[in-house]
Amino acid sequence: MKRKWWGWGALGAGPSAEQARAIARTVAGRFGVAVEPRPPPRLEEIALPQPRVAPPAALAAFVSDAPEARAGHHYGKSYRDVVRAFRGELPSPPDQVAFPRSEAEVAAVLDWCGAEGIAVVPYGGGSSVVGGVETAIPGARAVVSLDLGRLDRVLELDRVSRAARIQAGVLGPALEDQLRPHGLTLRHFPQSFEFSSLGGWIATRSGGHYATLYTHIDEFVESLRVLTPAGVIETRRLPASGAGPSPDRLFIGSEGILGVITEAWMRLQDRPTHRAGASVRFDGADAFLRGAEAVRRLAQSGLSPSNCRLLDPQEAATSGAGDGSHAVLVLGFESADHPQDAKLARALELCRDAGGIVPEPAARTRNGAADDGAAGAWRRAFLQAPYVRDVLVACSVIAETFETAIPWSAFPEFHCRVMEATLGAVQRVCGAGSVACRFTHVYPDGAAPYYSVLAPSRAGSELAQWAEIKAAAVEAIIAGGGTITHHHAVGRDHRPGYDRERPELFAQALRAAKRALDPRGLLNPGVLIDA
Ligand SMILES: Cc1cc2nc3c(=O)[nH]c(=O)nc-3n(C[C@H](O)[C@H](O)[C@H](O)COP(=O)(O)OP(=O)(O)OC[C@H]3O[C@@H](n4cnc5c(N)ncnc54)[C@H](O)[C@@H]3O)c2cc1C
Repeated sequence: MKRKWWGWGALGAGPSAEQARAIARTVAGRFGVAVEPRPPPRLEEIALPQPRVAPPAALAAFVSDAPEARAGHHYGKSYRDVVRAFRGELPSPPDQVAFPRSEAEVAAVLDWCGAEGIAVVPYGGGSSVVGGVETAIPGARAVVSLDLGRLDRVLELDRVSRAARIQAGVLGPALEDQLRPHGLTLRHFPQSFEFSSLGGWIATRSGGHYATLYTHIDEFVESLRVLTPAGVIETRRLPASGAGPSPDRLFIGSEGILGVITEAWMRLQDRPTHRAGASVRFDGADAFLRGAEAVRRLAQSGLSPSNCRLLDPQEAATSGAGDGSHAVLVLGFESADHPQDAKLARALELCRDAGGIVPEPAARTRNGAADDGAAGAWRRAFLQAPYVRDVLVACSVIAETFETAIPWSAFPEFHCRVMEATLGAVQRVCGAGSVACRFTHVYPDGAAPYYSVLAPSRAGSELAQWAEIKAAAVEAIIAGGGTITHHHAVGRDHRPGYDRERPELFAQALRAAKRALDPRGLLNPGVLIDA
């Protein structure tokens, strides 16, 4: 499958030209501005700088400087990345892109780059939205993007313990295809599932679609195999261990700066067969905060819904799950073992008690059937979102998302602060636009709100306008006590917020770990810490 080098998905996938024009008309109607999609960039018309290094002959079979490979590995997939690529701004592509077919070839790339002082950027699916795979590295002699996509196999399965040894470069769909015949699943479904990899999930501590319990990839990692410039680290397979600080935890979230994850033993689950779901409405001026109170009670009830997405009225309208007059809670339960009706019934009782309006008949019990109603509308919009964003970029519409987490006790004030700051910036900078919010994940002690900004901008000024909005949002989040990221990672783009959030002494400890594992500072310079 050939991927689009500048945007999301496979070549030819996504909205047709007619659908793109329809999206543009919808946006134009909503914001009262003229909007027209521009044609996508043509790589043939863009001059890339010459590669500064060539691979040794022994590596030439799996290292490429083809323009498409270099252009496609220049950026990740944040809004800013897609805008720059769409404009054809490709000033610092990787000099070479390596596609190793084995761990030995990964080691050979690290050896070559170590010997020549070349920076290495580990690359899984390239879906980073925080500059984690960007190859513009100031001061680097040359840069190699290390694409692990050919390491895509499930190597071993332990059916009794329900775990598998899996190569790190496998993308979500190919991983599930290999587990399905065994009745098993990793059950980790980030929105970027189609084009993100196991190694990338682990390196960024990604969050899946499931709203409670096993949400972060962290929970599923049983052991890791990591190639560092100083040698190989392989951790012991254990269901749990109290033996000191966890070596796995050092690499989970290390964002490619400490080593290249080549394999992991992952905990699996049986594929769910029992499902029950419903959606609940919350009305009134404070609909979202009323919904949040219901969700808090649910999160603290021990019921652990698999889906618990609270959409504010704006988000519900954008996804087609509501008409903009009320908040919607999309609720779902699932199990491979037992029916979920009793759990759903209790959850709906809790929602009613908290002021939620439960439609009659409330619950739908499904056995693999397609979703309909608000839940189905929400799911379809969720899967289409990255494709639609490419169209919005072509229309010069700012389409930014950011997310955080905050304890329940602080949530109402925090949320008002973030909304006020972000909406204020949108109005000031763009004159029109919207900010919507939903919960992606909830915990007994707090929630992970996710904000989506849509705003018309001036072609050519998109990034300056976007930067002002983003800065206002980041300031509100950090000053309000939230985290710079619940699941999008730090990369290069979130460094200013991360540097304020993490204790300085911890940064020193991380730098010491980096010096031990990557003494020449080859791996992903500028991400998480400065050397
Ligand atoms: C449309 C869209 C939706 C998204 N939705 C979600 C979501 O629901 N949940 C979520 O958590 N995130 C989401 N993201 C962010 C992104 O998909 C995640 O951060 C994901 O985990 C990155 O995986 P990847 O394989 O694409 O990694 P990449 O983007 O290739 O790399 C990410 C980072 O990990 C490092 N890395 C990659 N592979 C390895 C490896 N094998 N060893 C060491 N380091 C490595 C890279 O150097 C980089 O720093 C979304 C992004 C987009 C564009």
